[in-house]
Amino acid sequence: MTRITSTNLADGRELLYFDDAGTAPRSAASLVDCRELPGRGEPGELRFDALSGDWVAVAAHRQGRTHLPPADQCPICPTTAANPSEIPAPDYDVVVFENRFPSLGPALGGVPDSAPHGTAVPAYGRCEVVSFTPKHTGSFSELGETRARTVIEAWAQRTEALSALPGIKQVFPFENRGAEIGVTLHHPHGQIYAYPYVTPRAAVLGSAARKYYDDADGTDTLTASLLRAEREDGSRMVLEGEHFSAYVPFSARWPLEVHLVPHRRVPDLAALTGGERDELAHVYLDLLRRFDALYPTPTPYISAWHQAPLDSLLRPAGHLHLQLTSPRRAADKLKFLAGSEAAMGAFINDTTPESVAERLRAVAAVPAPALEGTRA
Ligand SMILES: [Zn+2]
Repeated sequence: MTRITSTNLADGRELLYFDDAGTAPRSAASLVDCRELPGRGEPGELRFDALSGDWVAVAAHRQGRTHLPPADQCPICPTTAANPSEIPAPDYDVVVFENRFPSLGPALGGVPDSAPHGTAVPAYGRCEVVSFTPKHTGSFSELGETRARTVIEAWAQRTEALSALPGIKQVFPFENRGAEIGVTLHHPHGQIYAYPYVTPRAAVLGSAARKYYDDADGTDTLTASLLRAEREDGSRMVLEGEHFSAYVPFSARWPLEVHLVPHRRVPDLAALTGGERDELAHVYLDLLRRFDALYPTPTPYISAWHQAPLDSLLRPAGHLHLQLTSPRRAADKLKFLAGSEAAMGAFINDTTPESVAERLRAVAAVPAPALEGTRA
């Protein structure tokens, strides 16, 4: 069992250690943040865009946040005398803590579904950082399965906890990997956003999912039906397990895009069984290693967990899945979202999903070096 230990940083932010199964209990000293930190500021704003009906977070206070610090000043490496970091402990396995420069929060509350032009409300919600490893270099794909399993445990626990906070409508665990797509910190890490509204993309997907669910009298989900169709067709499958399968979607938008779907209908990561989480650690690492095996250098990606929104209409039709995407279209070329995509949301994909699936099936997953297990 993953051991969870919670504490608070000097400014009151919550921090949780998720230690791998079988590791020794934490010392009391690793729970005390000895820094002096200024108090937490007020949240930014959410402004209502009357043209689109979307909320936009205006977070000018984030301009001062950490940007690609040198390794000896990394805020998520374990604390040393020379670098009193965000993590009070001298070592850890996986850690989750509230972002010091959040675009949402720390205040919590509800926001209306729509509002008149000129409406701004506090940017309620919560932004958390998930550090995957105490090691400053490397990537998720280099973690061992035990450590990946601990990260999954952290995602699941945070999904459950954040879903219970006042006003939260959607919990989104994700990872941006690669400076090419705007990562501001090299240390392998992900984030979790808890939004006080259903995000625009989740609203579009949720509406299609709800329509399918209603047409099926609540007996099936759209995601499950697409998974069945892909498995039957086979031409875009990447891998099939006992509990999870992955495929390149029929109408992939990105040069590299894979959807990883649990066979069982579950709303979110918190609803996965222990056996499902075990397999997820294996297949998720397998997928990431295939992405990295395509080219001589690591592939930038966005790993996005689509969980059922906390919305009474959309949630019953929701079905957990991962959308793993990359803008990489060649060894030295990235797709940029330009006029058609950025302005119109009309995607043009220069690769065929079938050929991408074939390449991803063909590349053997690269075995992981031993990155984990440094804790004494
Ligand atoms: Zn670091």
